[in-house]
Amino acid sequence: MSANDPGLKSFIPVAPDSDFPIQNLPYGVFSTPTDATPRVGVAIGDFILDLAALHRAGLLACAKPDVFARDAINDFMALGPPVWKATRAQISHLLDARTPDLRDDAAARAKTLVPRASARLHLPLKVSAFSDFFSSRQHATNAGKIIRGDASALAPNWLTMPIGYNSRASTIVVSGTPVRRPLGQRKPRNAEHPSFGPSANLDCELEMGVVLGGGSAMGEMLSEAQAEQMIFGFTLLNDWSARDIQAWEYQPLGPFLAKAFATTISPWIVTAEALEPFRVEGPVQEPPPFPYLRQGPGRNYNVTLDLLLKTAGMHDHARISQTNFSFMYWSSIQQLMHHACTGCAMSVGDILGSGTISGDTRDQLGSLLELSWGGSQPIDLPGGETRTFLQDGDNLAIRGFAQGPGYRIGFGEAEGTILPALPIPV
Ligand code: MN
Repeated sequence: MSANDPGLKSFIPVAPDSDFPIQNLPYGVFSTPTDATPRVGVAIGDFILDLAALHRAGLLACAKPDVFARDAINDFMALGPPVWKATRAQISHLLDARTPDLRDDAAARAKTLVPRASARLHLPLKVSAFSDFFSSRQHATNAGKIIRGDASALAPNWLTMPIGYNSRASTIVVSGTPVRRPLGQRKPRNAEHPSFGPSANLDCELEMGVVLGGGSAMGEMLSEAQAEQMIFGFTLLNDWSARDIQAWEYQPLGPFLAKAFATTISPWIVTAEALEPFRVEGPVQEPPPFPYLRQGPGRNYNVTLDLLLKTAGMHDHARISQTNFSFMYWSSIQQLMHHACTGCAMSVGDILGSGTISGDTRDQLGSLLELSWGGSQPIDLPGGETRTFLQDGDNLAIRGFAQGPGYRIGFGEAEGTILPALPIPV
Protein backbone atom coordinates (compact mmCIF):
# COMPACT_ATOMS: atom_id res chain seq x y z
CA MET A 1 0.00 0.00 0.00
CA SER A 2 1.27 3.50 -0.86
CA ALA A 3 2.24 5.79 2.01
CA ASN A 4 0.07 8.42 0.24
CA ASP A 5 -3.14 6.34 0.39
CA PRO A 6 -5.97 8.65 1.58
CA GLY A 7 -7.51 5.70 3.44
CA LEU A 8 -4.55 5.27 5.81
CA LYS A 9 -5.19 5.98 9.49
CA SER A 10 -2.69 6.08 12.34
CA PHE A 11 -3.22 4.67 15.84
CA ILE A 12 -2.21 8.16 16.94
CA PRO A 13 -5.29 10.42 16.83
CA VAL A 14 -5.06 13.11 14.15
CA ALA A 15 -7.69 15.87 13.79
CA PRO A 16 -8.96 16.46 10.22
CA ASP A 17 -7.43 19.96 10.23
CA SER A 18 -4.09 18.81 11.70
CA ASP A 19 -1.05 19.58 9.54
CA PHE A 20 0.44 16.17 10.27
CA PRO A 21 -1.64 13.12 9.29
CA ILE A 22 -0.01 9.79 8.44
CA GLN A 23 -0.02 10.82 4.76
CA ASN A 24 2.42 13.67 5.53
CA LEU A 25 5.34 12.50 7.76
CA PRO A 26 7.55 15.61 7.37
CA TYR A 27 11.13 15.62 8.71
CA GLY A 28 12.48 17.99 11.33
CA VAL A 29 15.13 18.29 14.05
CA PHE A 30 14.09 18.61 17.68
CA SER A 31 15.22 18.39 21.29
CA THR A 32 13.34 18.05 24.58
CA PRO A 33 13.73 19.38 28.14
CA THR A 34 14.88 15.89 29.25
CA ASP A 35 17.23 15.33 26.28
CA ALA A 36 18.81 18.47 24.88
CA THR A 37 20.58 16.58 22.07
CA PRO A 38 19.05 17.57 18.73
CA ARG A 39 17.92 14.58 16.64
CA VAL A 40 15.80 13.85 13.58
CA GLY A 41 12.06 13.23 13.95
CA VAL A 42 8.86 13.04 11.96
CA ALA A 43 5.67 14.93 12.90
CA ILE A 44 2.50 12.87 13.42
CA GLY A 45 -0.62 14.46 14.94
CA ASP A 46 0.40 16.23 18.15
CA PHE A 47 3.54 14.08 18.47
CA ILE A 48 7.04 13.75 17.09
CA LEU A 49 8.31 10.29 16.27
CA ASP A 50 11.98 10.23 17.39
CA LEU A 51 13.76 8.39 14.55
CA ALA A 52 17.04 8.06 16.47
CA ALA A 53 15.20 6.39 19.37
CA LEU A 54 13.15 4.31 16.93
CA HIS A 55 16.34 2.99 15.39
CA ARG A 56 17.85 2.26 18.81
CA ALA A 57 14.67 0.34 19.71
CA GLY A 58 15.25 -1.88 16.67
CA LEU A 59 12.08 -0.69 14.94
CA LEU A 60 13.63 1.21 12.03
CA ALA A 61 16.13 -0.22 9.57
CA CYS A 62 18.29 2.21 7.65
CA ALA A 63 21.25 1.84 5.31
CA LYS A 64 23.35 4.07 7.56
CA PRO A 65 22.33 3.39 11.16
CA ASP A 66 23.14 6.59 13.04
CA VAL A 67 21.92 8.97 10.36
CA PHE A 68 19.03 10.18 12.54
CA ALA A 69 21.14 10.89 15.64
CA ARG A 70 22.23 14.14 14.01
CA ASP A 71 21.38 17.82 14.35
CA ALA A 72 20.45 18.07 10.65
CA ILE A 73 18.72 15.93 8.03
CA ASN A 74 21.53 16.39 5.48
CA ASP A 75 23.17 12.98 6.01
CA PHE A 76 19.82 11.25 5.65
CA MET A 77 19.01 13.25 2.51
CA ALA A 78 22.39 12.35 1.00
CA LEU A 79 21.40 8.65 1.03
CA GLY A 80 19.17 9.35 -1.98
CA PRO A 81 15.60 8.80 -3.23
CA PRO A 82 15.38 4.99 -2.81
CA VAL A 83 16.28 5.35 0.92
CA TRP A 84 13.87 8.32 1.31
CA LYS A 85 11.06 6.20 -0.12
CA ALA A 86 11.90 3.04 1.86
CA THR A 87 12.22 4.97 5.14
CA ARG A 88 8.91 6.78 4.64
CA ALA A 89 7.23 3.45 3.85
CA GLN A 90 8.63 1.89 7.07
CA ILE A 91 7.49 4.84 9.21
CA SER A 92 4.05 4.83 7.57
CA HIS A 93 3.70 1.10 8.27
CA LEU A 94 4.79 1.48 11.93
CA LEU A 95 2.28 4.30 12.56
CA ASP A 96 -0.56 2.51 10.71
CA ALA A 97 -3.51 1.69 12.99
CA ARG A 98 -3.31 -1.96 11.84
CA THR A 99 0.37 -2.44 12.77
CA PRO A 100 0.79 -3.69 16.38
CA ASP A 101 4.61 -3.27 16.78
CA LEU A 102 4.57 0.27 18.20
CA ARG A 103 0.81 0.51 18.82
CA ASP A 104 0.84 -2.25 21.44
CA ASP A 105 4.29 -1.65 22.97
CA ALA A 106 3.87 0.98 25.69
CA ALA A 107 7.59 1.01 26.55
CA ALA A 108 8.61 1.60 22.92
CA ARG A 109 5.96 4.30 22.53
CA ALA A 110 7.23 6.08 25.65
CA LYS A 111 10.78 6.05 24.24
CA THR A 112 9.93 7.14 20.69
CA LEU A 113 6.88 9.46 20.80
CA VAL A 114 7.38 12.97 22.12
CA PRO A 115 4.53 15.47 22.62
CA ARG A 116 5.19 18.18 20.02
CA ALA A 117 4.23 20.95 22.47
CA SER A 118 7.10 19.99 24.79
CA ALA A 119 9.77 19.90 22.07
CA ARG A 120 12.06 22.61 20.82
CA LEU A 121 12.31 22.67 17.02
CA HIS A 122 15.66 23.47 15.46
CA LEU A 123 16.71 24.49 11.98
CA PRO A 124 16.11 21.15 10.22
CA LEU A 125 19.09 21.21 7.87
CA LYS A 126 22.54 22.67 7.41
CA VAL A 127 21.85 25.06 4.55
CA SER A 128 24.66 24.75 2.01
CA ALA A 129 23.61 27.63 -0.21
CA PHE A 130 20.50 29.71 -0.75
CA SER A 131 19.36 31.11 -4.08
CA ASP A 132 16.15 33.06 -4.39
CA PHE A 133 14.00 33.38 -7.49
CA PHE A 134 11.36 35.81 -8.75
CA SER A 135 9.02 33.38 -10.51
CA SER A 136 5.47 34.59 -9.83
CA ARG A 137 4.37 36.59 -12.87
CA GLN A 138 1.86 38.56 -10.81
CA HIS A 139 4.51 39.53 -8.22
CA ALA A 140 7.10 40.44 -10.86
CA THR A 141 4.51 42.56 -12.70
CA ASN A 142 3.34 44.29 -9.51
CA ALA A 143 6.91 45.00 -8.36
CA GLY A 144 7.75 46.39 -11.80
CA LYS A 145 4.70 48.66 -11.77
CA ILE A 146 5.37 49.92 -8.23
CA ILE A 147 9.11 50.48 -8.64
CA ARG A 148 9.55 51.39 -12.31
CA GLY A 149 6.08 52.49 -13.46
CA ASP A 150 3.48 50.73 -15.61
CA ALA A 151 5.26 50.91 -18.97
CA SER A 152 8.12 48.54 -18.06
CA ALA A 153 6.25 46.27 -15.63
CA LEU A 154 7.72 42.93 -16.73
CA ALA A 155 11.43 43.01 -17.72
CA PRO A 156 12.12 41.61 -21.23
CA ASN A 157 14.15 38.64 -19.92
CA TRP A 158 11.48 37.53 -17.45
CA LEU A 159 9.48 35.29 -19.79
CA THR A 160 12.59 33.51 -21.10
CA MET A 161 14.10 32.25 -17.81
CA PRO A 162 13.54 32.04 -14.05
CA ILE A 163 15.22 35.23 -12.76
CA GLY A 164 17.09 34.77 -9.47
CA TYR A 165 20.07 35.84 -7.38
CA ASN A 166 22.51 34.19 -4.97
CA SER A 167 21.37 34.96 -1.45
CA ARG A 168 22.83 34.03 1.97
CA ALA A 169 22.63 30.65 3.69
CA SER A 170 24.26 32.02 6.87
CA THR A 171 21.17 33.87 8.11
CA ILE A 172 18.47 31.28 7.41
CA VAL A 173 16.67 30.71 10.73
CA VAL A 174 13.91 28.43 11.97
CA SER A 175 10.41 29.69 12.68
CA GLY A 176 10.14 31.49 16.02
CA THR A 177 13.51 33.22 15.78
CA PRO A 178 13.11 37.00 16.29
CA VAL A 179 14.20 39.21 13.39
CA ARG A 180 16.21 42.34 14.13
CA ARG A 181 15.30 45.39 12.02
CA PRO A 182 18.42 45.91 9.90
CA LEU A 183 20.59 48.99 9.63
CA GLY A 184 21.68 50.01 6.18
CA GLN A 185 22.05 52.70 3.58
CA ARG A 186 18.91 54.15 2.11
CA LYS A 187 17.98 57.23 0.14
CA PRO A 188 14.33 58.28 0.18
CA ARG A 189 13.10 59.64 -3.17
CA ASN A 190 12.91 63.24 -1.97
CA ALA A 191 16.20 63.17 -0.01
CA GLU A 192 19.28 64.78 -1.52
CA HIS A 193 21.78 62.39 0.11
CA PRO A 194 21.75 58.78 1.28
CA SER A 195 21.88 58.08 5.02
CA PHE A 196 22.68 55.11 7.26
CA GLY A 197 20.10 53.91 9.75
CA PRO A 198 17.26 51.49 10.51
CA SER A 199 15.21 50.31 7.56
CA ALA A 200 11.88 52.13 7.52
CA ASN A 201 10.30 49.85 4.89
CA LEU A 202 10.70 46.38 6.39
CA ASP A 203 8.71 43.80 4.43
CA CYS A 204 8.00 40.07 4.20
CA GLU A 205 7.98 37.84 1.12
CA LEU A 206 5.67 34.81 1.23
CA GLU A 207 7.54 32.02 -0.55
CA MET A 208 8.06 28.28 -0.67
CA GLY A 209 11.59 26.86 -0.44
CA VAL A 210 12.68 23.68 -2.18
CA VAL A 211 15.28 21.63 -0.30
CA LEU A 212 17.83 19.71 -2.39
CA GLY A 213 18.69 16.22 -1.17
CA GLY A 214 21.05 15.57 -4.06
CA GLY A 215 23.88 17.46 -5.72
CA SER A 216 25.38 17.91 -9.17
CA ALA A 217 28.96 18.21 -10.38
CA MET A 218 30.43 21.46 -11.65
CA GLY A 219 29.99 21.55 -15.42
CA GLU A 220 26.96 19.25 -15.40
CA MET A 221 23.58 20.30 -16.78
CA LEU A 222 20.45 18.67 -15.35
CA SER A 223 17.65 16.89 -17.19
CA GLU A 224 14.11 17.13 -15.89
CA ALA A 225 14.41 13.59 -14.44
CA GLN A 226 17.72 14.40 -12.72
CA ALA A 227 16.32 17.62 -11.25
CA GLU A 228 13.22 15.82 -9.99
CA GLN A 229 15.36 13.17 -8.23
CA MET A 230 17.33 15.90 -6.41
CA ILE A 231 14.31 17.49 -4.73
CA PHE A 232 13.88 16.12 -1.22
CA GLY A 233 11.07 18.38 -0.05
CA PHE A 234 9.52 21.77 0.53
CA THR A 235 9.33 24.33 3.32
CA LEU A 236 7.54 27.63 3.94
CA LEU A 237 9.96 30.53 3.50
CA ASN A 238 9.83 34.21 4.43
CA ASP A 239 12.46 36.23 2.58
CA TRP A 240 12.45 39.27 4.88
CA SER A 241 13.25 42.33 2.75
CA ALA A 242 14.26 45.92 3.57
CA ARG A 243 12.68 47.75 0.63
CA ASP A 244 14.40 51.10 1.24
CA ILE A 245 17.86 49.49 1.47
CA GLN A 246 17.00 47.40 -1.62
CA ALA A 247 15.91 50.44 -3.66
CA TRP A 248 19.24 52.23 -3.08
CA GLU A 249 21.63 49.26 -3.42
CA TYR A 250 20.11 47.11 -6.19
CA GLN A 251 21.48 48.85 -9.27
CA PRO A 252 23.27 47.39 -11.14
CA LEU A 253 23.87 43.99 -9.46
CA GLY A 254 20.52 43.21 -7.81
CA PRO A 255 19.55 42.58 -4.18
CA PHE A 256 22.39 42.25 -1.65
CA LEU A 257 22.11 43.26 2.01
CA ALA A 258 18.42 44.18 1.79
CA LYS A 259 17.65 40.45 1.85
CA ALA A 260 20.73 39.02 3.60
CA PHE A 261 19.89 39.83 7.25
CA ALA A 262 17.30 37.05 7.84
CA THR A 263 15.25 34.38 6.06
CA THR A 264 12.76 32.31 8.10
CA ILE A 265 11.78 28.74 7.21
CA SER A 266 9.23 26.38 8.77
CA PRO A 267 10.67 23.61 10.99
CA TRP A 268 9.18 20.70 9.01
CA ILE A 269 10.38 19.63 5.56
CA VAL A 270 7.42 18.14 3.70
CA THR A 271 8.70 15.51 1.28
CA ALA A 272 8.17 15.78 -2.46
CA GLU A 273 6.66 12.29 -2.23
CA ALA A 274 3.92 13.45 0.19
CA LEU A 275 3.06 16.34 -2.14
CA GLU A 276 2.95 14.17 -5.26
CA PRO A 277 -0.90 13.73 -5.18
CA PHE A 278 -1.25 17.54 -5.25
CA ARG A 279 0.56 18.23 -8.51
CA VAL A 280 -1.38 20.52 -10.86
CA GLU A 281 -0.80 22.30 -14.15
CA GLY A 282 1.04 25.62 -14.08
CA PRO A 283 0.18 28.69 -16.16
CA VAL A 284 0.68 28.37 -19.96
CA GLN A 285 4.26 29.37 -20.82
CA GLU A 286 4.40 31.64 -23.86
CA PRO A 287 6.88 31.95 -25.50
CA PRO A 288 7.63 28.23 -25.08
CA PRO A 289 10.70 27.72 -22.84
CA PHE A 290 14.06 26.78 -24.37
CA PRO A 291 14.46 22.98 -24.61
CA TYR A 292 16.71 22.88 -21.50
CA LEU A 293 13.84 24.39 -19.45
CA ARG A 294 11.02 22.22 -20.77
CA GLN A 295 9.03 20.18 -18.26
CA GLY A 296 6.19 17.68 -18.64
CA PRO A 297 2.65 18.15 -17.31
CA GLY A 298 1.96 18.83 -13.62
CA ARG A 299 4.71 21.42 -12.99
CA ASN A 300 3.07 22.95 -9.92
CA TYR A 301 1.57 21.98 -6.54
CA ASN A 302 -1.79 23.02 -5.11
CA VAL A 303 -0.72 24.41 -1.72
CA THR A 304 -2.89 27.06 -0.01
CA LEU A 305 -0.71 29.73 1.62
CA ASP A 306 -1.83 32.21 4.28
CA LEU A 307 -0.05 35.40 5.32
CA LEU A 308 -0.92 36.50 8.86
CA LEU A 309 0.00 39.56 10.89
CA LYS A 310 -0.29 40.25 14.62
CA THR A 311 0.81 43.61 15.95
CA ALA A 312 1.88 44.05 19.59
CA GLY A 313 -1.61 45.48 20.22
CA MET A 314 -3.54 42.55 18.74
CA HIS A 315 -4.58 39.33 20.53
CA ASP A 316 -4.76 37.09 17.45
CA HIS A 317 -3.26 36.95 14.01
CA ALA A 318 -5.27 38.51 11.19
CA ARG A 319 -5.01 36.96 7.74
CA ILE A 320 -3.90 39.67 5.35
CA SER A 321 -3.53 37.50 2.25
CA GLN A 322 -4.24 34.02 0.91
CA THR A 323 -2.40 32.79 -2.16
CA ASN A 324 -1.40 29.45 -3.72
CA PHE A 325 1.87 27.77 -4.74
CA SER A 326 0.12 26.71 -7.99
CA PHE A 327 0.27 30.32 -9.24
CA MET A 328 4.02 30.02 -9.99
CA TYR A 329 4.98 30.68 -13.61
CA TRP A 330 8.37 28.91 -13.39
CA SER A 331 8.38 25.68 -11.36
CA SER A 332 10.96 24.52 -8.81
CA ILE A 333 12.26 21.96 -11.31
CA GLN A 334 12.64 24.63 -13.99
CA GLN A 335 14.46 26.85 -11.48
CA LEU A 336 16.82 23.99 -10.68
CA MET A 337 17.47 23.10 -14.35
CA HIS A 338 18.15 26.78 -15.04
CA HIS A 339 20.44 27.13 -12.00
CA ALA A 340 22.66 24.30 -13.31
CA CYS A 341 22.56 25.20 -17.02
CA THR A 342 25.91 27.02 -17.03
CA GLY A 343 27.52 24.22 -15.02
CA CYS A 344 26.90 25.68 -11.55
CA ALA A 345 27.32 22.83 -9.03
CA MET A 346 24.35 22.17 -6.73
CA SER A 347 24.73 20.60 -3.26
CA VAL A 348 22.83 18.55 -0.71
CA GLY A 349 21.25 21.10 1.63
CA ASP A 350 20.77 23.85 -0.94
CA ILE A 351 17.54 25.82 -0.69
CA LEU A 352 15.93 27.49 -3.69
CA GLY A 353 13.32 30.12 -2.84
CA SER A 354 10.34 30.27 -5.21
CA GLY A 355 10.12 34.04 -5.11
CA THR A 356 7.17 35.93 -3.64
CA ILE A 357 3.94 34.16 -4.57
CA SER A 358 1.12 36.49 -5.61
CA GLY A 359 -2.18 35.81 -7.36
CA ASP A 360 -4.41 37.96 -9.56
CA THR A 361 -6.48 39.67 -6.87
CA ARG A 362 -5.76 42.19 -4.09
CA ASP A 363 -6.25 39.55 -1.38
CA GLN A 364 -3.72 37.16 -2.99
CA LEU A 365 -0.56 39.27 -2.71
CA GLY A 366 2.55 37.87 -1.01
CA SER A 367 4.28 41.05 0.23
CA LEU A 368 3.39 44.28 2.02
CA LEU A 369 5.02 46.14 -0.88
CA GLU A 370 2.13 44.92 -3.03
CA LEU A 371 -0.60 44.85 -0.34
CA SER A 372 0.07 48.54 0.44
CA TRP A 373 0.99 49.33 -3.18
CA GLY A 374 4.40 50.72 -2.41
CA GLY A 375 3.27 52.17 0.92
CA SER A 376 0.60 54.38 -0.68
CA GLN A 377 -2.45 52.38 0.49
CA PRO A 378 -2.22 51.28 4.16
CA ILE A 379 -3.97 48.02 5.00
CA ASP A 380 -6.59 48.00 7.78
CA LEU A 381 -6.21 45.56 10.67
CA PRO A 382 -8.85 44.39 13.17
CA GLY A 383 -8.73 46.74 16.17
CA GLY A 384 -8.20 49.81 14.01
CA GLU A 385 -4.47 49.78 13.37
CA THR A 386 -3.10 50.14 9.85
CA ARG A 387 0.16 49.01 8.25
CA THR A 388 2.18 49.82 5.19
CA PHE A 389 5.43 48.12 6.27
CA LEU A 390 6.32 46.18 9.44
CA GLN A 391 6.74 47.94 12.79
CA ASP A 392 8.73 46.79 15.82
CA GLY A 393 6.81 44.13 17.78
CA ASP A 394 4.87 42.91 14.72
CA ASN A 395 4.68 39.15 14.30
CA LEU A 396 4.42 37.86 10.74
CA ALA A 397 3.45 34.25 10.06
CA ILE A 398 3.12 32.09 6.95
CA ARG A 399 1.02 28.92 7.11
CA GLY A 400 0.29 26.45 4.34
CA PHE A 401 -1.35 23.16 3.48
CA ALA A 402 -2.45 20.93 0.62
CA GLN A 403 -6.02 19.70 1.12
CA GLY A 404 -6.67 16.00 0.56
CA PRO A 405 -9.92 14.06 1.04
CA GLY A 406 -10.41 14.20 4.84
CA TYR A 407 -6.84 15.21 5.67
CA ARG A 408 -4.33 17.93 4.89
CA ILE A 409 -0.62 17.90 4.20
CA GLY A 410 0.43 20.89 6.31
CA PHE A 411 3.71 22.75 6.67
CA GLY A 412 3.31 24.15 10.17
CA GLU A 413 4.35 27.76 10.39
CA ALA A 414 7.15 30.16 9.49
CA GLU A 415 6.86 33.09 11.90
CA GLY A 416 9.02 35.78 13.42
CA THR A 417 8.67 38.93 15.53
CA ILE A 418 10.39 42.18 14.59
CA LEU A 419 12.87 43.51 17.16
CA PRO A 420 13.95 47.17 17.20
CA ALA A 421 17.13 48.06 15.35
CA LEU A 422 20.38 48.19 17.30
CA PRO A 423 21.81 51.64 18.03
CA ILE A 424 24.06 52.98 15.29
CA PRO A 425 27.73 52.59 16.37
CA VAL A 426 29.52 55.92 16.65
MN1 MN B 1 12.43 36.73 -2.33
